Amino acid sequence: MSCANPVDAAVLAEYWMGALAGAAEERVEEHLLECDECGARLGEVMALADGVRELARSGSLRMIVSDWFVRRLAEEGARVREYAPPAGGSVQCTVTAEDDLLIVRLAADLSGARRVDLGVYDARGRERGRLKDIPFHSEAGNVAFQESIAWAKAAPSETVVTRLIAVDEAGGERLLGEYTFHHTRSLPGPGDW
Ligand SMILES: [Zn+2]
Repeated sequence: MSCANPVDAAVLAEYWMGALAGAAEERVEEHLLECDECGARLGEVMALADGVRELARSGSLRMIVSDWFVRRLAEEGARVREYAPPAGGSVQCTVTAEDDLLIVRLAADLSGARRVDLGVYDARGRERGRLKDIPFHSEAGNVAFQESIAWAKAAPSETVVTRLIAVDEAGGERLLGEYTFHHTRSLPGPGDW
């Protein structure tokens, strides 16, 4: 038996996360009561969603996050360290052993951008890495970037620069904002005697 009207995997994921509105949730629930095939697929989605959630919660990913995600983890007891330097500005920053998440909020006018990259540079301007085509909302006025907490805890005291860059269809780049982080290591480690 194969399902004539399978529930979309994204809808199953939203159902599992409790993100569906009442009527939509009921429709999925009714279908799952009658359909073993979609029930089995829900099982796969649940396993996958748990894996992704664990990974995201671990704070070890370098990724763009939503306000909802940050709020949710804070509500669950995660200790969130957040910095929000203005465009063109700089900030003194550190992480401690107790921090679970490091969130950097980069303010920029995103309204005209089609594609946005986030570049990470050393103090001399050499590019260390780039997140290409990051998700953003044109009206948001900022991007929330999760730096890997594992990386930050191990990093030496140093200056790191991030840039938000608008990229047009021809590959032309326009700087939306540059943000300088003067990082001070506060955990014992190599270099501390
Ligand atoms: Zn089905």
